[in-house]
Amino acid sequence: MGFEKFGHVSFTSQTKTDAFVEYLVKDEIRATKCRKCGRVFFPPQADCSSCLESDMDWVKVEGNGKIISFTKVNYGPTGFESDVPYILALADFGEVKVFGRFSKEIPEEQIKVGMEVKIQAVSLPNGQVSYQFIRD
Ligand SMILES: [Zn+2]
Repeated sequence: MGFEKFGHVSFTSQTKTDAFVEYLVKDEIRATKCRKCGRVFFPPQADCSSCLESDMDWVKVEGNGKIISFTKVNYGPTGFESDVPYILALADFGEVKVFGRFSKEIPEEQIKVGMEVKIQAVSLPNGQVSYQFIRD
């Protein structure tokens, strides 16, 4: 399974981190962690940009994240036009910061900087898989 299954619209069919999509299908959100220096990457990277090592572990992104920043998207980029409006946010999960969408089930007025969220894998109506933030 390749990256063509990831996201609302996929622009990439294959990467060195295709396992990310296989984990998503199993309801797991995973980051890569460098076995040499311990740095964690999300989106997953196959090569460590800190120490240039390519020996990576797949680690779960779980627990509570804290919203650092968010924005409302009113004009979607190509492929996302029919999805707007939606909220994009950056959340701090400790070892990694994750950029992603909020579940549309969370009312916009309840979204605040500092709020605690969890990350959840989602299957989209078109058969694609992605992940989203949900309320803790
Ligand atoms: Zn490293």
